[in-house]
Amino acid sequence: MQTDAPIVVIEDDPNIADLVELYLRREGYRVLQAADAEKGLGLVARERPRLVVLDIGLPGEIDGLEVCRRLRASTQVPVLILTARDGEIDRVLGLELGADDYVTKPFSPRELVARIRAILRRSEMASQKQADVLVSGEVEVDTARREVRAGGEVVALATREFDLLSYLASNEGLVLSRRQLLDAVWGQGWYGDERTVDVHVRQLRKKLGDKLPLATVWGVGYRLG
Ligand code: CA
Repeated sequence: MQTDAPIVVIEDDPNIADLVELYLRREGYRVLQAADAEKGLGLVARERPRLVVLDIGLPGEIDGLEVCRRLRASTQVPVLILTARDGEIDRVLGLELGADDYVTKPFSPRELVARIRAILRRSEMASQKQADVLVSGEVEVDTARREVRAGGEVVALATREFDLLSYLASNEGLVLSRRQLLDAVWGQGWYGDERTVDVHVRQLRKKLGDKLPLATVWGVGYRLG
């Protein structure tokens, strides 16, 4: 887990979002805001945050509960939900959908921060134990040894191929665009052609064969697992 990974706040009320951001910044956390579900899901896919603060009542077609469901289906990021005082059902549903904790509005920012610290302590301790080897299908990506095994056999990969595969594996189940992959693997300052990604994917498929559960998502990008 990168320690500079941000906390993403998905909340449509700018006053609440700013308040949460202010208190978290004071504690030294980097904070990114999203005012609706779509932006929030995009931010999470791109930034790989250490935690998501998620409002249940969001504008548009996707509410916070649906966001929670989608996050849980595709990532292990801890989620703290914000619910209205009378939102008993949302609270229960949110926890059933895999949220780690909840805070009821109106809330004390100090309490919110304390809850967040507690969740982060738990999740970062748990992830340290298992973050070194990512597994997808029959492919294992050992990030500590920079080694890839397919069906138990070590496969030699070029540096970028390894970096691309390990980024896909750490975002297993998420659809990643070519642009996102370029930014993450080649760096934001890299102004190459997005077809570079396709070339490297082709190499990965050639080397790992059908052991690699990598899907091309037409018009978007790629998804592992
Ligand atoms: Ca709201």
